[in-house]
Amino acid sequence: MPRTLPTTEELRTRARAALDRVGVTLDEDAGAGPGAGDVQHARTPLTGEVLFPVPATTPAAADEAVADARRAFLTWRSTPAPRRGELVRRLGELLRAHQGDLADLVTIEAGKIRSEALGEVQEMIDICDFAVGLSRQLYGRTIASERPGHRLAETWHPLGVVGVISAFNFPCAVWSWNTAVALACGDTVVWKPSELTPLISLACARLLERAAADVGAPDGVHRLLIGDRAVGERLVDDFRVALVSATGSTRMGREVGPRVAARFGRSLLELGGNNAAIVAPSADLDLTVRGIVFAAAGTAGQRCTTLRRLIAHRDIADALVARLTAAYAQLPIGDPFDEATLVGPLISAAALDRMQEAVARAQAEGGKVLVGGGRRLADVAPDAAYVEPVVVRMGAQTGVVREETFAPILYVMTYETLEEAIALHNDVPQGLSSSIFTRDQAEAELFLSAEGSDCGIANVNIGTSGAEIGGAFGGEKETGGGRESGSDAWRAYMRSATNTVNYSGRLALAQNISFL
Ligand code: NAD
Repeated sequence: MPRTLPTTEELRTRARAALDRVGVTLDEDAGAGPGAGDVQHARTPLTGEVLFPVPATTPAAADEAVADARRAFLTWRSTPAPRRGELVRRLGELLRAHQGDLADLVTIEAGKIRSEALGEVQEMIDICDFAVGLSRQLYGRTIASERPGHRLAETWHPLGVVGVISAFNFPCAVWSWNTAVALACGDTVVWKPSELTPLISLACARLLERAAADVGAPDGVHRLLIGDRAVGERLVDDFRVALVSATGSTRMGREVGPRVAARFGRSLLELGGNNAAIVAPSADLDLTVRGIVFAAAGTAGQRCTTLRRLIAHRDIADALVARLTAAYAQLPIGDPFDEATLVGPLISAAALDRMQEAVARAQAEGGKVLVGGGRRLADVAPDAAYVEPVVVRMGAQTGVVREETFAPILYVMTYETLEEAIALHNDVPQGLSSSIFTRDQAEAELFLSAEGSDCGIANVNIGTSGAEIGGAFGGEKETGGGRESGSDAWRAYMRSATNTVNYSGRLALAQNISFL
């Protein structure tokens, strides 16, 4: 029987080659890297085995990294913004040159299929392009003053050191959203990536280091910390870190938000989602099924924007479910490097346990599994977690449906009126992404209105996942309220000052107050 997965040794060789081309020599970095402390193990979900030991950053080295970033900030903040953009442009060039290498590392460490891994690196390139333009567009406003001979204006200034804490499932794109924009805004960055993805982090940090050297930017504009949540907590509690931008579970945000607030720091939280799509009777079912399958089963259900709840009108629910189950039964699952594969592995055996527990709970709460849920390739890779995406029909939005399980589980429910569908849609603690599939413009507009979806992202005739970098990204409620990436999300990385200039030669007080 032909082997269906690469071996761990083959993956090690491929990762080493990619790291070499980027300029990371693992053993040398192990000695001279962020600091010789505990060892972190780089693993691959393709086989579930360890690839390399990577040294974790010691507490002293983490403190030093923040000090370096703070020192660099004092120079960087006064560097003209368009010149700061040159660093981001150079980073973008290096990312383009190494797109294949970085995508290899994303697949090896996070398990993404090839096209999604390339797409994640493309997202980094795109945000660099965006941030280069932004470096010439950090506009403030001029405001009409109520006093004659006065000018009232708003100016924007760099904020300071930005601490970026990121999750395993977008191991580099989330870093780039924050870093490209923060650097253009005049901030410096200290990054604590997921403990599950140290290799892609070392590669990105190395490329930024090379870009900084190429354009003569200060050495400390960026620092990388390798380690688990304890290392992240150092950033959270460090008063020198002006903004903590943290992406991950709602559990993590619940800890990080109050701790940063306690020292009057700023936080930008991008947390869990429990995203839904409403399918109306007028929906184009061909388009809808394709949109749903990508959003629900793509990335093995491990996107914050993954579609987890389907709210289908009762008149089309059976037809929709029949098409969906047929599509699910055909999904190619397995080696993410194989061009034909659409569903790679879950990140870990623990993620598989959580998926199985959730499906069992859904069944106990009255759900019926319609397709999927089985395990694949356990004989070839017993430590890996390849699963069949599962569709579960639910009679109601029960407890388990209201939680985010980070796996490809799609719960299907039905509705009669759009108002009922929207109420069901919004009746979860999370508020990240949402969709409606309809050809009825009035329905679409209602869904997008203040009475419609309560999410940060609301789409029509497209799934919940796969946002472009040009729009601001983020969600409401337990998703944390943060906005990153495009539009005017840059303002979170700067501080504003309101300036009143009196050129009248007379002192006039606001609100007509007389004094002296
Ligand atoms: P996680 O919460 O386990 O870890 C995320 C990061 O936070 C890691 O770097 C981790 O080390 C760090 N961390 C955890 N606890 C911390 C603490 N108390 N203090 C400081 N740092 C801490 O999440 P994960 O399993 O890596 O990622 C999956 C989760 O992330 C899902 O819930 C998903 O929805 C969410 N996510 C959200 C977005 C978004 O933009 N909204 C994007 C990607 C992922």
